[in-house]
Formats: sequence, C-alpha cells, structure tokens
Amino acid sequence: MPSFRAYAKINLGLFVIDKRRDGFHNIKTVFHRVNPFDEISFDASPQIGVVSTSSVVPSDERNICYQAASLLAKHLNVTKGVMISIQKNIPVGAGLGGGSSDAATVLLHLPGFWARTVSSTQLQSLALQLGSDVPYFLNQGSALAKGRGEVLEYFTLDVPFTILLCNPGIHISTAWAYQHVTPRQQDIDLKNLMVRGMRDTPLLAALANDFEEPVFQEYPMIREVKESMLQAGAIFSSMSGSGSTVYGLFSDAQKADKAAGILDSRGWKTYLTDPRFSPLEPEPL
Ligand code: ATP
Repeated sequence: MPSFRAYAKINLGLFVIDKRRDGFHNIKTVFHRVNPFDEISFDASPQIGVVSTSSVVPSDERNICYQAASLLAKHLNVTKGVMISIQKNIPVGAGLGGGSSDAATVLLHLPGFWARTVSSTQLQSLALQLGSDVPYFLNQGSALAKGRGEVLEYFTLDVPFTILLCNPGIHISTAWAYQHVTPRQQDIDLKNLMVRGMRDTPLLAALANDFEEPVFQEYPMIREVKESMLQAGAIFSSMSGSGSTVYGLFSDAQKADKAAGILDSRGWKTYLTDPRFSPLEPEPL
C-alpha cells in the first residue's frame, strides 16, 4: 500500500489586505514547507471513507480528505470508493495548513490509485473549491501568494536557518481569526523582501502577521511562546497563519535545540526543520 507525505507550511509574513464582496479576504503571504508531515494512504473500498490517528479530526464527510475524494469521484465520474488513512502528525487548527496539505495530497495521488488522470488546471480548480490554502500544496517550493491565497508565484527560497515550530495546543478557528483581523493595504514586495531578508536578516523586521494582534489579545499564551523564542535566541519569530503555532528562525542549530528543550518543558509541542530543508515530493514512502 503506497503512502504519501503531506508536509506542513508556515507563513513568512501574512498581510490581510481587504475584505472582498464575496466574503473572502485578499491576503499577501509567502508559504514555505516545513516538517512535520502527515502520511496518507489509500485502500480499495466500495465507498469513500476516512480513518485517522487523531481523535480531533472528523472521520466523516467533514474531513477535507473525504471532500477531496468526493469532488474527484464526481469530476472523474467514477463509481469506485477508497478508504483514506491519515497518520496525523501535524497539529490541528494550528496555522500549519495540515488539512489543506492532506487534501492536496489526495487530489494529487487518488486519481492514480483509480487509474485515472486529471489535468493540473482541473486540479487547481478542485483545490480552490476545498479551501484557499489547498492550491499551494499542489506544487513544490515556496510561493508568494495573493488573492485568497490561490494566486501563486512559486520560487526557490533558500532558508539557511533551523526553523523551530512551537504549538501550545490551542485550536484556533481560521473563520474566527478573519472576523477579528483588521485589514490594511500593503505595498510591500514580499518575495523580494524574503529573498534579501534571508541573507540580510535585519530586513525581516518589516515582516508582520496581521493575525497576531487579535490572536495574542484573545490567547496571551501565544504571545508568550513568541517571546520565549526570541529570548532563546531566534533571529526572527512570528505566528504562522491564524495560529496557534509560532515559529522561530535560528542561525545556530544548537540554540534551536536548546530552545526546543525549554519550550517542551513548558508542555508545548515543538518541531525542528533543518536549514535548507526541501521535501522530496511527490514521493511514495
Ligand atoms: P490553515 O492554516 O489551512 O487555515 P489550520 O492548520 O489552521 O489550517 P487544520 O489543521 O487544517 O487547520 O484544521 C482546520 C479544521 O479542519 C479543524 O477544525 C479540523 O477538524 C478540520 N479538518 C477536516 N479534515 C481535516 C484533516 N484531514 N486534517 C486536519 N483537520 C481537518
């Protein structure tokens, strides 16, 4: 039974520009892949079904993998089912795009399991029906994202730092975060800033995540995580997505290890990503 990796992402900068007439917000962000990853596998089954190792992830039609399989079945006009197994390693409701990455992995690999193919244009359209972050996970590399997050410009971002993620176990609803964020126009050339900022780190001070303000107000513990990262020697720290995960960039791998130990001892979960990390995908495990 082949199994596929669905990696998490972080947001390097996240500006909420304005609210659109269709209810979505225009944003500007850079998505970047990191550890951890979920593992997705398929087994033959007369119907579509989902099992997962997480008690907080639904196993019925509310699961985004179930929705991805249903959309594909409809699009391909297939009557076959599939049992999707998810080894859930990415924390849920954590701003790491776990559900979105799982869904994209289903879109990419389930057609092959059913001995069918789907064009990349069709895949993008199906992905956007599932969620604003799903299209990003259809391709490799980092990407500047605009619009709802689906207007993507992929590029290679060399991150020469150890990335430490810390999740304090708070589940944040993305819908709640959008209700409380204050949009602001932003002219920043984010892609250029990221590329230059990785070599000239003081430039990273221009980065912001607009969700931090409302989220820190509601959950002060998440601000504490960010402060702990900076105290432990991170050259830059920010919340990812709408939270609750905070990441820190460390130029010294030992400092990152030590910081992980300090954060772990407070009962929070940590994950390390090596400098210049690049997932080898698509790749059966
Ligand atoms: P994003 O950064 O894309 O906004 P997130 O990382 O904050 O997302 P997810 O972990 O994707 O959040 O979960 C969001 C919600 O989706 C949760 O309430 C969860 O119950 C539901 N969900 C449905 N399917 C999945 C899945 N396969 N994995 C994780 N969550 C799922």
